[in-house]
Amino acid sequence: MKLQFLGAAQIVTGSSFLLEVAGKKILIDCGMFQGSKTVRALNYRNFLYEPASIDCVVLTHAHIDHCGLIPKLCKQGFKGKVYATKVTSELCGIMLPDSAHIQESDAEIANRKGERAGKKHVEPLYTVDDALAALAHFAPVAYNDELNLIPGVVVRFKDAGHIIGSAIVEVFVTENNETVKLLFSGDLGQPDQPIIKDPTIIDGADYVITESTYGNRLHLHYDKEDKLAEIINDTVDRGGNVVIPSFAVGRTQTLLFYLHKLWKENKISDIPVVIDSPLAIAVTQIFAHNTQEYDEEAAKLLSSIGGLPEMPHLIIAKTAEESRALNNMPGSKIIISASGMADAGRILHHLKHNLWRAEASVLFVGYQAEGSMGRRLVDGIKRVKIMGEEVGVKAKIYNLEGFSAHADRNQIMEWLSRINNPKPANIFLVHGEPIASYPLADLIGEKIKVSTYIPRYGDTAIIEGRTWRVEEANITIEPVAKDLEDFLSLAEAEYVQIKKRILNVVLREPDKLRDVAIRVEKVVRYMKKLMNDI
Ligand SMILES: [Zn+2]
Repeated sequence: MKLQFLGAAQIVTGSSFLLEVAGKKILIDCGMFQGSKTVRALNYRNFLYEPASIDCVVLTHAHIDHCGLIPKLCKQGFKGKVYATKVTSELCGIMLPDSAHIQESDAEIANRKGERAGKKHVEPLYTVDDALAALAHFAPVAYNDELNLIPGVVVRFKDAGHIIGSAIVEVFVTENNETVKLLFSGDLGQPDQPIIKDPTIIDGADYVITESTYGNRLHLHYDKEDKLAEIINDTVDRGGNVVIPSFAVGRTQTLLFYLHKLWKENKISDIPVVIDSPLAIAVTQIFAHNTQEYDEEAAKLLSSIGGLPEMPHLIIAKTAEESRALNNMPGSKIIISASGMADAGRILHHLKHNLWRAEASVLFVGYQAEGSMGRRLVDGIKRVKIMGEEVGVKAKIYNLEGFSAHADRNQIMEWLSRINNPKPANIFLVHGEPIASYPLADLIGEKIKVSTYIPRYGDTAIIEGRTWRVEEANITIEPVAKDLEDFLSLAEAEYVQIKKRILNVVLREPDKLRDVAIRVEKVVRYMKKLMNDI
């Protein structure tokens, strides 16, 4: 058999793996690339296979970086079924049309701007109609059922504890009378999360394809409720808003769970909580009628009022007008809006209106991919460009990592270390930036004593029983010049800020002139050296 890595290879998005067995082709996930422009450009590349030649798709969960290119696949000729859990299928029913809507409006904006600049017309990646047509391919499967995909290939979904409906996928491939088990972790959840069940322990596999998002990090174990209350109360004292960019699936519901608890226990005041994401609202309703997936406490809470917890000042902003009106609403409020990486969607309006206010807080609660607006804010950037406008960052920026839906280094290691019967012949590390995957690979070698491989985009593993090798694809991904340009203009803005600050300091305290001059000279020398080395 062959296993080709078509995405989430040394990055965290675009999950997709092509399994070829006896001339049949199975795609595991068909995710969208998100993050920097260079990475997003991969969405527009031709698939590395012929879509009509794919026999079926096995989908781990409903996050767009795992399912977002299914409509493109169908549009380009895929005729088979998409197997996913019942809840994943339901979630895709709203996630994919929503993603299509974003594609359509992005293309419309680009065309409006492009027309003036004489650029050629851009087509959306796919349309809402394409997304709706793709939904007809979905075939729900129950957890733990054995599904005969094609002759010689059986799959089984196990709870991944990542988001509602998420699955770890076991794939049993029989070739030459020998059965080899591949184990795809999908996105692996953190144990002991509210609402979601723990990831399933799997006791054996011949090959593991595991995510490594937090392969180099440990989640802080601290009282998340207390920290959340502290941030909210501080911001209310300053008279500002708490803006929370949040993924519609999972994170928003967890946040509501915590906010409800804090309010019930009088740890936060009765400030309005706004959910400004139609998608998050629709998803919360899916949560409400799938209570069998959760622990009791969450089931009770989320089924109280049509899927939303009973809180005195819960405001739902359905339309774009309702969303914009929030900016004129006096007093502090908590605004939960998408997207979680602050790259697109209504959150941009809220950032534009709040980032420049010292009294406001922006609270990130999930993974921020390299190149995303969220990542830059978390890294401390002082000026950003939002919807064509430069905005200075004065708001307090927080990053509460413990809310992550992903297992951290020790939790991944713990999950991997239980796979003993048999112990894997190799572990492929995917869905992680190199800075996370490589240290995890070292740790696996040292502690679990299993070989690892970190594939690149397009690489193929040739597997025969427990023997394997990788054919490297050597596909170069051209960096998009615009990324560098963006980076340089941000550096320029930063420099202007620093220059202003230095001049102010020296004007106020002339004694510092000599020290400042020495430092500036050092910086210039260092910069020249760095640049000469390029
Ligand atoms: Zn995910």
